[in-house]
Amino acid sequence: MKFSWKVVLLWALPALTIGFFLWQGAFASTTVVAGNNAAATRMSYGRFLDYLDVGRVASVDLYEGGRTAIVEAIDPELDNRVQRLRVDLPANAPELMAKLRAADISFDIHPSQNNGAIWGLLGNLIFPLLLIAGLFFLFRRSSNAPGGPGQAMNFGKSKARFQMEAKTGVLFDDVAGIEEAKEELQEVVTFLKKPERFTAVGARIPKGVLLVGPPGTGKTLLAKAIAGEAGVPFFSISGSEFVEMFVGVGASRVRDLFKKAKENAPCIVFIDEIDAVGRQRGAGIGGGNDEREQTLNQLLTEMDGFEGNTGIIIIAATNRPDVLDSALLRPGRFDRQITVDAPDIKGRLAVLDVHARNKKLSPQISLETIARRTPGFTGADLANLLNEAAILTARRRKEEITMAEINDAVDRVVAGMEGTPLVDGKSKRLIAYHEVGHAIVGTLLKDHDPVQKVTLIPRGQAQGLTWFTPSEDQSLISRSQILARIKGALGGRAAEDVIFGDAEVTTGAGNDLQQVTGMARQMVTRFGMSDLGPLSLESPQGEVFLGRDLMVRSEYSEKISARIDAQVRVIVEQCYEDAKRMIRDNRVVIDRLVDLLIEKETIDGEEFRQIVAEYAEVPEKEQYVPQL
Ligand code: ADP
Ligand code: ZN
Repeated sequence: MKFSWKVVLLWALPALTIGFFLWQGAFASTTVVAGNNAAATRMSYGRFLDYLDVGRVASVDLYEGGRTAIVEAIDPELDNRVQRLRVDLPANAPELMAKLRAADISFDIHPSQNNGAIWGLLGNLIFPLLLIAGLFFLFRRSSNAPGGPGQAMNFGKSKARFQMEAKTGVLFDDVAGIEEAKEELQEVVTFLKKPERFTAVGARIPKGVLLVGPPGTGKTLLAKAIAGEAGVPFFSISGSEFVEMFVGVGASRVRDLFKKAKENAPCIVFIDEIDAVGRQRGAGIGGGNDEREQTLNQLLTEMDGFEGNTGIIIIAATNRPDVLDSALLRPGRFDRQITVDAPDIKGRLAVLDVHARNKKLSPQISLETIARRTPGFTGADLANLLNEAAILTARRRKEEITMAEINDAVDRVVAGMEGTPLVDGKSKRLIAYHEVGHAIVGTLLKDHDPVQKVTLIPRGQAQGLTWFTPSEDQSLISRSQILARIKGALGGRAAEDVIFGDAEVTTGAGNDLQQVTGMARQMVTRFGMSDLGPLSLESPQGEVFLGRDLMVRSEYSEKISARIDAQVRVIVEQCYEDAKRMIRDNRVVIDRLVDLLIEKETIDGEEFRQIVAEYAEVPEKEQYVPQL
């Protein structure tokens, strides 16, 4: 089935014109009001000024370029009845406006009827003219240049929707920190380069490889590197591009893509975000999405339609392998899965090495320090970090990137652009208490990560921020560590509550509370850390797959569900009480820290701890330092 813009536009034409007439209608009604007013009783200008002085005028509407006014005056003798009076104004009465404004009388200026008619006529003409011009351009572009920009209109054929790179120029050396994935994919390169080695002994070459991992970990880069190493063309498309509003477009795109791939074999076909098309069929409320299913069926058909030794290898990427249709994962389709995770500290160092190659770094910069500071960063985050640092360096007109730029860039990558600080006032004070609340609770709890800095300089959505030195991606987190995090996250709201009172707490804690609830819920439902006992009641990624969850019963009864909610509440309430107590007990030092924070805008962790230590005992924290 093919659609073209011509069809869509012809259909859109009546709709547009109808909308346009309605809009005209709305304008016409205001002119009618002006006409009615002509029937009002006349009043002299002098009288009007008197009325104005004694405050009898309620409102004034000016017509005909300010020559005529319809005045609503109140008559105190007649029970404050409203009279409408017509006044002819002198040609030039600018002081009248000032007077009206001074007396705080509502007045309004209406365009004169003559002008209105001209504008109305122009309005009547402009829309059809624009429409015709637009249509003309569309037709011309799509008919004159079939291979040029007009092709974008021709979306039934979907020519421009996938990209082809004859040479990606990416090599395995450019991909760092994900060694296992690289090793597994090395084999794919051999399949492409020397297929006979495998077919000679009767081995079936895999058709599809699924790369599983969060965004930015280098999945696209890996696929490009395979093509680059094997010296074959690289076709890419994103799953979301398949799914269009019109049924049949996605399937025809799949067909086109494979047709082109076969012409260019051996090659790599890369499908990003395959979950957009590859979701379990028949799921989703209301029987699922026809278009998506057709596209998926077409994809399956194409994958079955060529033999393994054609030399096409399809690499797909997703973050959600659990939602994929099982048909996609069967032998002969995406039967190999390779996990690509965010790199550990060694991996981060390797990625930084790759991206530092073309940057001018000051000799005192240690990439190792950067790798230590950035747990949880993906390859893309690290690339972005070095790039931001380079941009900052250029902006500051420095010769080479120094640690100052790196630190600022980390802050920016994690928390967004820096904003301008608030001027001192009540809300700044409240934010300061909120942040100091987080920081003091975090400092006083032994199991909490140490404070790195507290700042009132806004970034991204946040008005103030408390940074904690991130601990290296630990795989095991203890119950007391989670509780400490919950208390720390509640510290902000607790401080607002204790210092400003229940009525003054703000929306600023919304994000904190979301995290708190998430952590407490997982303690109960996944980690067996509550009175409910060691039960696993929820799968890690819970609700996302709505369609399937509605059909398959959840793992627990209604009764358990109520108990889960109760347990979550108990955990959060106890932590909140603890946090509030810590705020109350340390009120003196908190006040001092808030004053300092408002004065300096930022306090770093070391200074913060020293000040707190003058008033209370600050526990030593054990931090896990990974080996390199
Ligand atoms: P994904 O496809 O997993 O979302 P990409 O491959 O698009 O991630 O990564 C985006 C960019 O981040 C890459 O072009 C590259 O510059 C950088 N990058 C990501 N992972 C790595 C890595 N492992 N090694 C080197 N650079 C990486
Ligand atoms: Zn907060």
